[in-house]
Order: sequence, then C-alpha cells, then structure tokens
Amino acid sequence: MSEKKLTVSGFASCSAYQQAKNALLGMKAIYPKEFDITVNECKTFLSSHRFLVVIFLIVATRDEYMAWLPSFRETIDAPNHKTSPIVWFEGGKYLGGRDDTIAWVKNLLTRTEEPPSTPPNVDPWNPSHGFDYDLVVIGGGSGGLACAKEAVKNGAKVACLDYVKPSPHGSKWGLGGTCVNVGCIPKKLMHMGAQLGEHAKVAKSYGWTGFENGKNNWDELRDHIQDHIKGLNFGYRVQLREQGVTYLNKLGKFKGPNTLECIDSKGKVQVITAARFVIATGGRPTPINIPGGEYAITSDDLFSLDKPPGKTCVVGAGYVALECGGFIAGLGLGEVVILVRSRPLRTFDQDTVKYVLDYMKQEGGIRIEEGILPKSIEKLSNGRYLVHYGDKSEEFDTVLAAIGRTPDLSKLGIENLSSPLTIHKSSGKIIATNEQTSIPNIYALGDVLHDAPELTPSAILAGKLLARRLFGNSTDTISYRNIATAVFTPLELGTVGFSEEDAINEYGKDAIECFISEFKPLEWSISDVHHDVNSFVKIVVLKESNNGIKNKVIGLHIAAPNAGEVIQGYGLAMNKGLTYEVSSLYQDCL
Ligand SMILES: Cc1cc2nc3c(=O)[nH]c(=O)nc-3n(C[C@H](O)[C@H](O)[C@H](O)COP(=O)(O)OP(=O)(O)OC[C@H]3O[C@@H](n4cnc5c(N)ncnc54)[C@H](O)[C@@H]3O)c2cc1C
Repeated sequence: MSEKKLTVSGFASCSAYQQAKNALLGMKAIYPKEFDITVNECKTFLSSHRFLVVIFLIVATRDEYMAWLPSFRETIDAPNHKTSPIVWFEGGKYLGGRDDTIAWVKNLLTRTEEPPSTPPNVDPWNPSHGFDYDLVVIGGGSGGLACAKEAVKNGAKVACLDYVKPSPHGSKWGLGGTCVNVGCIPKKLMHMGAQLGEHAKVAKSYGWTGFENGKNNWDELRDHIQDHIKGLNFGYRVQLREQGVTYLNKLGKFKGPNTLECIDSKGKVQVITAARFVIATGGRPTPINIPGGEYAITSDDLFSLDKPPGKTCVVGAGYVALECGGFIAGLGLGEVVILVRSRPLRTFDQDTVKYVLDYMKQEGGIRIEEGILPKSIEKLSNGRYLVHYGDKSEEFDTVLAAIGRTPDLSKLGIENLSSPLTIHKSSGKIIATNEQTSIPNIYALGDVLHDAPELTPSAILAGKLLARRLFGNSTDTISYRNIATAVFTPLELGTVGFSEEDAINEYGKDAIECFISEFKPLEWSISDVHHDVNSFVKIVVLKESNNGIKNKVIGLHIAAPNAGEVIQGYGLAMNKGLTYEVSSLYQDCL
C-alpha cells in the first residue's frame, strides 16, 4: 500500500469531485516526483480487437457513477460512502470524499518538513569525492547509453566505455550495443523483408500482377541494413559528444571499486577513477559446445554474412532461433530446419506458441525437429557442413547456433573488486536490488542483470531511472512486471503478463479464467494461401483480485499478423488495471 499513489473517482459535472481532483493535482504539481494521482473520469471506452471487447472500468455521468459506487466501495472498506468523489490510496485504503481529501492535502502542504525523498539503494554521495568522474558507465548499448546521457542531464560528469570483442567468426560492430548492431534493428528489418515476400505471394489475390516471381537479393538487403546501422552508430557518437558524455572506445577492466583500466584495440592502457560505476555490458550468444561447434555462426555474425545463408540448420528453441529461422525462410534464402531440444518458446503461453509453430511449418515450409540436439558438425570438402542429429545426418550451407545468451562479464575484472559481486548461480548474471549490486557504488542494468527481461526498452528505462536516482534526487524505480513483448516470427506473437500456466501456478486453477478466440484475419480472407492456419488470442483473467477488482486481465497473448504492434497498447492498458467483460452487444454485430 502506498500513501503516495491515490485515485480520485467521481462524475465530471460534480463540483465537489472537481475540487478534490484539483487539490490532488495541485499537490502533484508541487511535488511531481512524490505523488501519483489517477483520475477516474473517462467516458465509457470500448476497445476491440477482433472478437475481444474490453470495457475499462470508468464513470462518466452521475447515474453511471451512482450505479457503479455500491459495488466498488465495499472493495475499499467504505460501505457507507454515498457521494461523489471517492478517493483511495493504492492497495485499497479509503481516504474519503471532498472534505477529507482537501484536509489531507492541506495537512501535507502546511507541514514544515519536505516529504521524504530518499532514493532507494543509492550509495552515499560526496560531491567533493576527488575522482575523475562522478559516473563511469561500462557498455554503450541500450541501457548504458540511456543511463550515461541521463546522468549528464542531471548534472553528473560522465564517461561511457564501449568496446566490442569480435565474435569467434570475427564479426564486430560500432557503438550502440546488441539491439542496434546485431539484435532488434537488423532482425526487425529482415523480418519486414520476409513479410514483403509473404505479401507478394498473396498480391495476385489483391489484383496485382508481376510479384509472383520476386527473388530476394541478400547483398542488397544486408548492405542497406548495415548502412542504416552505421548511420545509427555515428548518431550515437554525435549524441554523446553533444550531450557532454566522454566516450571511450575501450574495454573496461576493474582494478578496484573506484578504479578502471581502459584498454584500446592496440592494447594501450588508460586508468580512470569514478565515484560510481554502472555495469551495462549486456550478453553474447552462448557458444555451442559439441565437436565442430566452432563452425556454427551466431546472431552476432548472421546479419553481416558475406553470402546468403542458404540451407540453414538453426539450433535453439528461443525467440532468436525462431525469428532468425523465420526470416531466412521468409526471404527465400534457403531451406530452414530448426532443431529444438525441448519446448520452443518455453516461457511463453504454450497454446499461443502452437499457432506460431503451425504457421511456420505450414506457411513458411520450415521443418521443426523437436526433442533433438545436434551431436556434431563436420566441415565437408564442398564447403558445406554435415550436421549429425538424432539418428540422421544432413548437409547444410550454414549452421546457426541460437541456444541462449551469456552475460558478458568476461574481461571485466570483477575478481579485482575489494568484495565479490553477487552473481546468480544458474543465470550467471549480477544480482542487484534496484540495480545496486553487492558493492554499494557499483550498479548493473540491462541484460547483465539477473531477473531483468532481456529487452531494449526496459534496459533504456532502467538506465534513465537509475541516473535520476543517482544524480537527480528521484525515487522512481522500474517495475519489470507486465512488459509487453513481441516475437517477430512469420506469424507474430505478442504477449504481456502471465501465461495460463504461470497464472495457475501463481493464483491456483480456480482463481483464473481464460478466454480464447481462434480467427482468420481479414487480410487472409481473399488469398489463396493461409487455408490451414489461424490466428489466436488468449486473455487470462483473475476472477477477483485481493482488493476486490473483478475480472482483472493478468495475461494477454496474441498470435496474429501485426501482433507485435497490437500488444503494446494492451500492455499500457494492463498496467492501468484493465478488466475484461464479454460484450454480447459486440458479438451480435458480428
Ligand atoms: C537477435 C536478437 C534480437 C533481439 N530483438 C529484440 C527485440 O526485438 N526487442 C527487444 O527489446 N530486444 C531485443 N533483443 C535484446 C536486446 O538487444 C537486448 O536486451 C539489449 O540490447 C540489452 O541492452 P544492454 O544495454 O543490456 O546491453 P547491450 O546492448 O548488449 O550493450 C552492451 C555493450 O557493452 C559492451 N561491452 C561489454 N563488455 C565491455 C567492457 N568490458 N568494456 C566496454 N564495453 C563492453 C558490448 O560490446 C556492448 O556494446 C534482441 C537480441 C538479439 C540477440
């Protein structure tokens, strides 16, 4: 329960409601970082996606408010509250109506001391620390760059190191980290290229001619993507310079809790000191440890290959494996076989995953061999690779290992720190509380942090919020719950919140209900393909939450065209307390 997060609800034409609301918003204007005010005064808002209709819990007119109030007031233990407005704290503690709210605000504003604002998990700050920098960020990827720039904005003197250790196949790249160079950006562009190929297949049904025999030119696609990436690399360097962050294209290696050795590509060493450090070194693909494993490339190499991958054996069951396998097949670059040790996309809702896999097999022509691990890889005299798996051996042009990612702590010198950094035994990642590690002046964020999602937007937000806590007197921390995530497989998957399985584990089978819908998207309806595949949506609902909210949406999973875009709005709605109601009105219209 937080006494800093309040919700005020009433009907718009009620003057008492307007006074209470204005008092709360005025207080928020004075203490923007201290209080969070939610105003419940929207008009009834209907959001629909295919067969789903979602009604947000809201009130608009006096009658609607009065009709809603009796069912709600019980949930915040205010059975006798009969008027507009009603105000309560996060977690369901009742504050009162207009008079109680104004009295509460007055009390806060007239008190002599400032509201407490101790940032959580921040080491003591001495402005005359005498080190070279206030903050040194190690790693110029999504999280590190965001943190460094935000720290400067908040008055800190900052350096940011970024150094790319070449992959075992010799691939390297510029400033910006995994997402920009060998992750989200090239992956999404190649996925879009593959989707164009898919659209070309159905173009005839839409009256177009001339698309049928299209062929993708790998060299052109790769060069355009790499040019775009180089532009981004340059832009990041310019941004750092313009914003006053010292950029060091050097490998960082701790010599102590305030000292870092910075080593350039020629081995030249510079030593710098800082009051605080942020480790944002991300992760690298885990190498495949089988005889001949060294022949397998990884996602670090794929996007800059000098020739098209051709017939490809993808090893792995995670999103990188399925996305890469999906676009290689979709671009028509070669036959794709995916070897999956156990369940594909294991942590995602499995009913939804099934639609993604069916689509990949039936529409994408991809072979997915489940329960199989490769035993060895041989290089043949014709330049191809012979992969031995199960009881078979098969020739491929390329073997792509996508069996997971390992946090990049190698060469960071963490063994030189005065006390050990706490590392999680199985993930190998740094354990931290609100990004503060076991060494108080050293922080960690992004892919290197245990229990944080391996996603760019969350690394960016974590970096910004950390910088504000360290140098901007903010107390805001990131919540890693309910982060909308997209998987850019040929049929996209969008997901936010609990899978059905996880929801049952968390709340028990009787406490939840799932609503599913299988459908053919309109864009498939006039095409000659897509006969045997469908799209799918599942909503996981908590029948009654512990503060009495009925039918709270705690999970939403979509396998459909554009699911990656669709899910983002639902992510926001879920974080704002989305509830679910089946509307017979909408069903009648179908
Ligand atoms: C194929 C693929 C597709 C992806 N697609 C998506 C997607 O669609 N959406 C999404 O949100 N996320 C996606 N991701 C994940 C996303 O890229 C990462 O979550 C994100 O980049 C993590 O940011 P980070 O700041 O933690 O680390 P990174 O971006 O990895 O940056 C770390 C940087 O630190 C450098 N470094 C390491 N050690 C040192 C050292 N000692 N000294 C100096 N520099 C060092 C590294 O070279 C690197 O440049 C994808 C990842 C992959 C591999």
